[in-house]
Amino acid sequence: MELVSPAGNMPALKAAVDNGANSVYLGFKDETNARHFPGLNFSAKNICKAIDYAHNKGAKVLVAINTFPQPKSWQKWEEAVDLAADSGVDAIIVADIGVLDYAANKHPQLARHLSVQGSASSIESLGFYIDNFGISRAVLPRVLTIEQIKEICSNVSIDIEVFGFGSLCVMAEGRCMLSSYATGQSPNTYGACSPANHVEWIEKNDTLECRLNNILLASYQKNENAAYPTPCKGRYSVNGNTSYAFETPISLNTIGVLDQLIAAGAKALKIEGRQRSPAYVAKVTQAWRLAINSISQDSKNIPQQAISELNSITEGVDATTGPYQKEWR
Ligand code: SF4
Repeated sequence: MELVSPAGNMPALKAAVDNGANSVYLGFKDETNARHFPGLNFSAKNICKAIDYAHNKGAKVLVAINTFPQPKSWQKWEEAVDLAADSGVDAIIVADIGVLDYAANKHPQLARHLSVQGSASSIESLGFYIDNFGISRAVLPRVLTIEQIKEICSNVSIDIEVFGFGSLCVMAEGRCMLSSYATGQSPNTYGACSPANHVEWIEKNDTLECRLNNILLASYQKNENAAYPTPCKGRYSVNGNTSYAFETPISLNTIGVLDQLIAAGAKALKIEGRQRSPAYVAKVTQAWRLAINSISQDSKNIPQQAISELNSITEGVDATTGPYQKEWR
């Protein structure tokens, strides 16, 4: 099982590599990747240093170019693919079929992974990307059970990567329009859900209101934990009930089903969080390294140390195995 850790910047990349990541994934400083946040990501200047550091320690570098180009700015996606290829990265992670087509034709030697944003969740859909764009790996959207992942792994010729830990969307990767509806910008096009310049926190007597482009997403009591205000994690009134109508703020943590994901045939496990601090990346990577090593050594017992570390840093109030174990089905 390859451990794929996030690298939002050079210190995070070093933290990931030094703590046992087999690969790091990163993006460039523009809207060509789905974590286009101020202060994050890599420039043409420091991408080579990042690659050198990772390669010298035996880790691979994967570059996410996984947003969907808009007609007027297509050139940026071509430039990102060219820069990745010229810099010597190990693979690019792409969602858009136009970008995949460009990469396959212009840089056939550069490995192509299908991004989670591509939202391919069936053998047939993956077959389309394999046949037409020669992808060597796909990151599955977080919609499938372990049984369904097993079925896919047994029937496709490429490596399958799954998400193991971190923040969760409401499982509609590449297709969610909520942020676009509220702000005109979304992860799919601009690279960020609920961009910070649209977010406003307003103190009112005993409550804290959170608005996105003036749309009220939630009103918190002073003693409540407030999540980052993405529209899917707002509290809405539906039929007279005010609740997290889409999703409660909760983190994915698959450590309890890691042995099942490996047995299903998943070849790589991705940690979400390019927006996280180097200290967070170090801690999470170290815990997963410990867990994967212990399973590889034929032990089904995940070290308690790894479990406790991950429990201490899950976002929101709780953790879930998300779609992997859909008990409500
Ligand atoms: S609104 Fe929620 S589900 Fe939609 S892209 Fe943002 S985080 Fe993901």
